[in-house]
Amino acid sequence: MSVQAAVSSGVRTRFAPSPTGFLHIGGARTALFSYAYARHHGGKFILRVEDTDLERSTPASVKAIFDAMEWLDLEYDEGPFFQMQRMERYKEVLAGMLEAGTAYYCYCSKEELETMRAEQEARGEKPRYDRRWRPEAGKVLPAVPAGVEPVIRFKTPLTGVVGWDDMVKGRIEFSNEELDDLIIARPDGTPTYNFCVVVDDWDMGITQVIRGDDHVNNTPRQINILLALNAPLPQYGHVPMILREDGQKMSKRFDAVSVMQYQEMGILPEALLNYLARLGWGHGDDELFTRAQFIEWFDTRNVSGSPSRFDLQKLKWVNAHYMKQSEASRLAALALPFLSAAGVTDVDAARLESAVALYKDRAETVKDLAEAVKFFFVPVAAPAELVTQHVTEAVQPWLGALAEKLSVTDWSKEAIAATMKAVVGESGLKFPQVAMPVRALVCGTTQTPSIDAVLAALPKELVLQRLGS
Ligand code: GLU
Repeated sequence: MSVQAAVSSGVRTRFAPSPTGFLHIGGARTALFSYAYARHHGGKFILRVEDTDLERSTPASVKAIFDAMEWLDLEYDEGPFFQMQRMERYKEVLAGMLEAGTAYYCYCSKEELETMRAEQEARGEKPRYDRRWRPEAGKVLPAVPAGVEPVIRFKTPLTGVVGWDDMVKGRIEFSNEELDDLIIARPDGTPTYNFCVVVDDWDMGITQVIRGDDHVNNTPRQINILLALNAPLPQYGHVPMILREDGQKMSKRFDAVSVMQYQEMGILPEALLNYLARLGWGHGDDELFTRAQFIEWFDTRNVSGSPSRFDLQKLKWVNAHYMKQSEASRLAALALPFLSAAGVTDVDAARLESAVALYKDRAETVKDLAEAVKFFFVPVAAPAELVTQHVTEAVQPWLGALAEKLSVTDWSKEAIAATMKAVVGESGLKFPQVAMPVRALVCGTTQTPSIDAVLAALPKELVLQRLGS
């Protein structure tokens, strides 16, 4: 696949996931920041799949990443580009560097490197490649051994400092002396990770590299290679990690780290985006904002330089806000798979929409919403203690009377309310003494929205049946 030539003007950001699993929430947030930066500046957002790790990259992961990006509606302008399809280009750049003398062949065998390491450790030195194959003026290189496929190493500057003004963390510097002559191509000629990133960022004209701060140590190496290639340097912004609420690292085993797990929990994509945007970035005290506002306000200067902590309760609070704002028809469609997963398959669409309209302001997730409206389709038995508490002997005859009256009541909220009031009046009971048992018997719980509205959203026969007549 060809890539546009380097563009020297206009913002171009990228998201460059490695397809070795699902899209995790940290990755999604990085993607969101890159996306927002490009949109804020009217630039381009590029998707690049870093799939050169053949052992760990899978087509299923590529699909998982695309699905998650689509679910979050993180639209990209160019790509997806796949590194595996750009091998020829990397080899071309490698050849150019060998020719220019900014890279060199190293014929050290594994055994030699191990001996080198052991000797350095024995001397109490930091293990590092001793540059024995690095060509220098006046230096005599070892004889090329037979039958060894060499690696290619980058000729890292021996002195000086490599640094950048990080868009998130401020000035970061490394001394070149700390950096090895890193391997940029393996014995089989395939380029290594840092090298591919450099060539891609260059070819794709990336102007701002916004990525996780686990890459901070790669950046000085990448800058040195870009300098050796006389390529323009992008700006770099390293976004801190997302930690668990207790400050520990999140783990696949115990935490929902995959974006799609949030869909499975019944979180709306716009809620997850709003929450992730706010996590580690801020615009005053604003907690709830639209995508357009986020794009308008986003600036890497307001991204926090320290790790943020994931707070599921807050995410649910944000989600509840977006559920209130959503159309009942949309939430009904989203609730359907949750209902069928709970074994509720015979679902009348109109009834579901009325039920959702009644319940959407009360649920924190679509999953909870589905659970709450289940009784509209299947009988849900109230816990025994609720029945004992509310369906008392004193009340029972009046429930019969209510059912009888309801059987001839017009099936509207107002008419149902009038009938209930009439029975309350005749019985001398208090309103809750009638409403609570009705709730328990019909809905399986006493926590419901206005009971007349709930009954009106159910078929009359079903209500009468559950009232026991
Ligand atoms: N592929 C890298 C990752 O998934 C990102 C590299 C980059 O953004 O430079 O961690």
